[in-house]
Amino acid sequence: MTDDIPVRIRPEIAALPPYRQGKPAGDDGFKLSSNENPFDPLPGVIEAMSDAADVNRYPDASARRLRERLAARFGVDADEVHIGAGSVSVLAQLILAAAGPGDEVVYAWRSFEAYPTLVRVAGATAVEVPLTADFRHDLPAMAASVGERTRVVIVCSPNNPTGTVVTHDEFAAFLDAVPSDVLVILDEAYAEFVTAPDAVDGMRVLGLLDRPNVVALRTFSKAFGLAGLRIGYAVGHRRVLDAARSTAIPLAVTGQAESAALASLRAESELLERVRVISARRDRLVAGLRDGGWNVPDAQGNFVWLPAGEHTAAFAEAFEEEGLIVRPFVGDGIRISVGEEESVEKVLRIAASVVQTLPEGHSGRGLAWRA
Ligand SMILES: *Cc1c(COP(=O)(O)O)cnc(C)c1O
Repeated sequence: MTDDIPVRIRPEIAALPPYRQGKPAGDDGFKLSSNENPFDPLPGVIEAMSDAADVNRYPDASARRLRERLAARFGVDADEVHIGAGSVSVLAQLILAAAGPGDEVVYAWRSFEAYPTLVRVAGATAVEVPLTADFRHDLPAMAASVGERTRVVIVCSPNNPTGTVVTHDEFAAFLDAVPSDVLVILDEAYAEFVTAPDAVDGMRVLGLLDRPNVVALRTFSKAFGLAGLRIGYAVGHRRVLDAARSTAIPLAVTGQAESAALASLRAESELLERVRVISARRDRLVAGLRDGGWNVPDAQGNFVWLPAGEHTAAFAEAFEEEGLIVRPFVGDGIRISVGEEESVEKVLRIAASVVQTLPEGHSGRGLAWRA
């Protein structure tokens, strides 16, 4: 039997690698590969979900209660909020709405691994702009890559997987350099973990700058700990979001997810306390990695980045042998989520041991940083 696809598939889709399940963590291991929240959901969140258990009914198509709640919170109209089954869904809808065959989508690379696939599925062409040597978005280069065919630019801050942010001033200058009819998506999946005061904040951008071409994407998956329920949102111009709504698969956001998100917002101060714990743990990890000899970029999400380069696969193996499931990006580096407190010491110990094997002058070594 051959492994060929038995029917005719769009060639660009057939060329995509098939999805392969990642490794589960063992019983005494830690899963630090998906940037999930290590805390269990709050009791009120679980209750709200079971209260909403009329599963024989379709959900409210636009998740109106949650849109109104978010709109009130951000000082916008309910039509300027759009809910999706995860912010990745909203991202897919926006790309589909704005870019098709012959059009270009510009984003930084390396960045979120979903971007190349979503662009290809839309039939559009990806333009990947390399990160700077310190793993940050090169916004001037990205602006220079915008041309006649560009329909979308995606800016990811904090950047998954390197953790670096774009500053507010950098983003404002970038918007000045990009035509006002090009959609700029600011992917802020990790916004709640950001502690750098000069970092861009999509809600501030939308409120302060008159930029109807900007859409900010946020999610309940990371800081709010609802990754398994699939719920995220966009804030932006009503007519841009209408276009996203037009490409959406109808009724994908469940009533349970909407209720859980609303309950999470009611418990926000408690959840943000946990977020502060995770951000502080992240800062300890970064400091510990640097002490151990790593050159790691400033981390503003709930994960850290080890620029292991060509040693990535071998180092990921070393972590896995000790029960830590990390996320290797072969040839580039390893992303490690900030997980349970008990995982921190283990991460630092293994990281400090493998860094010794990096050759002198390797960019993963902390010499540049120490100088
Ligand atoms: C996790 C993540 C998302 C959000 O995913 P959901 O679909 O909301 O779970 C979006 N963008 C980036 C960069 C992410 O890392």
